[in-house]
Amino acid sequence: MVFTVPSDLSGGLYFLNGKRTTIESTETFDVIEPRIGQVVAKCPKATADIVDQYVKAAADAQSAWGETTALDRGKVLHKVADLIREHAEEIAIWEVKTNGKPIYEARCDIASSADTFDFFGGIATAVLQGDSLELPGGPSQRIAYTRREPYGVVGCIGAWNYPFQTCVWKVAPALAAGNAVVYKPSPFAPASPVLLGEILTAAGVPKGVYNVIQGEQEAGVALCEHNLVAKVSFTGSVASGEAVQRQAATKNVKPVTLELGGKSEIIIFDDSDVKSAVASAMLANFLNQGQVCTNATRVFVQKGILASFTEAIVQEANDKLKVGDPLLEDTRVGANINEGHLQRILGYVESAKQEGGVVLRGGVRVHPTGVEGGAYFEPAIITGLSDEARAVREEIFGAVMLILPFETEEEVIARANNTTYGLAAGVFSG
Ligand code: NAD
Repeated sequence: MVFTVPSDLSGGLYFLNGKRTTIESTETFDVIEPRIGQVVAKCPKATADIVDQYVKAAADAQSAWGETTALDRGKVLHKVADLIREHAEEIAIWEVKTNGKPIYEARCDIASSADTFDFFGGIATAVLQGDSLELPGGPSQRIAYTRREPYGVVGCIGAWNYPFQTCVWKVAPALAAGNAVVYKPSPFAPASPVLLGEILTAAGVPKGVYNVIQGEQEAGVALCEHNLVAKVSFTGSVASGEAVQRQAATKNVKPVTLELGGKSEIIIFDDSDVKSAVASAMLANFLNQGQVCTNATRVFVQKGILASFTEAIVQEANDKLKVGDPLLEDTRVGANINEGHLQRILGYVESAKQEGGVVLRGGVRVHPTGVEGGAYFEPAIITGLSDEARAVREEIFGAVMLILPFETEEEVIARANNTTYGLAAGVFSG
């Protein structure tokens, strides 16, 4: 089957039995294209009955897929990788339209998604093996053996910041292991997982093995609670993750994988190379409009290097962070996911100012030419805050860097660890 990238969303945002489709539902949500800030479609929300129908379709298809050899599944996943590479540019444009990130970043996401399918296609045969164990009496009388078996149907729920890649990171390992998937994207970025469905079908993934439902919390709850869903894989906020873990234990007790929020840090000591520290702090704060779970928004800088680091990072941000239409080649900061999220980020900037913060650059809304309707934000660098400030404690999930001076190693380790989150960390020293 030939894969062609569809030109719009008119084929529906659901995916069932190997093709795009839609459902009848009285309730819908608005699909907003972040780049222009406009509603481009209305998408019906899945009810519990629809979730049930999709999970049953996945369960029916899984039996045969789970019986194929890991080698054969690996071959299909390699074909998926090839198709993604063949259509990388068109998929990257879809991703920009789904999420608002700059095209140069979307290209990296799509390239890494192809690599992910190759990786899991390659390890399927090597990893999916069991052990044999000797039992009392010796191997001539008794041995035990273990086998790695698929769970069955895996319920996957994604966030909106890496719509294609997050989906791929869940789907590729699940399919490699012989599972079927029902995927629920974020209603803020629902399109890319449907595109992935078309690629999977074209590569030879059997009908029903991968399915997409749409909706908000209600659809997610129904998926987590469904008794034919044998495992849940979730990416999103800590609050939703806590709920997901509870829901996954209501009707049967399912294993759950949670990838949640963060408030990470980098620590820059006096003997660091300023250029390298600046380059890394830029990456750790401003990629994807700062909408990255591992963002190191708490930038602890030792006092001896504070002045030179601060001057250099503000200069670098002024020189490099061009906010604009994400489809343009030289844009480095695209649109935030939606108006509500932008207002939340602006609220954190305001709270920082009220708590003694000094905004060294950015921190305001902007309206780039040609895409004025989108939720664009000039990345902020803020100093002068204590560790107790709201912006320092809570996940902002936006392009807001906080420079926090320190004197000693003992002090900074204690302050860096003084958080309820834990995702990533970086240290710079000579
Ligand atoms: P969110 O928690 O609001 O929503 C995530 C998904 O969960 C959406 O599809 C949503 O519809 C669904 N959902 C919400 N409540 C649910 C429930 N009770 N049961 C089932 N599904 C439910 O998060 P978001 O705003 O989409 O994403 C941003 C968050 O995700 C940030 O906190 C970010 O740090 C985190 N994130 C983490 C990682 C990681 O790998 N650790 C990666 C990306 C994003």
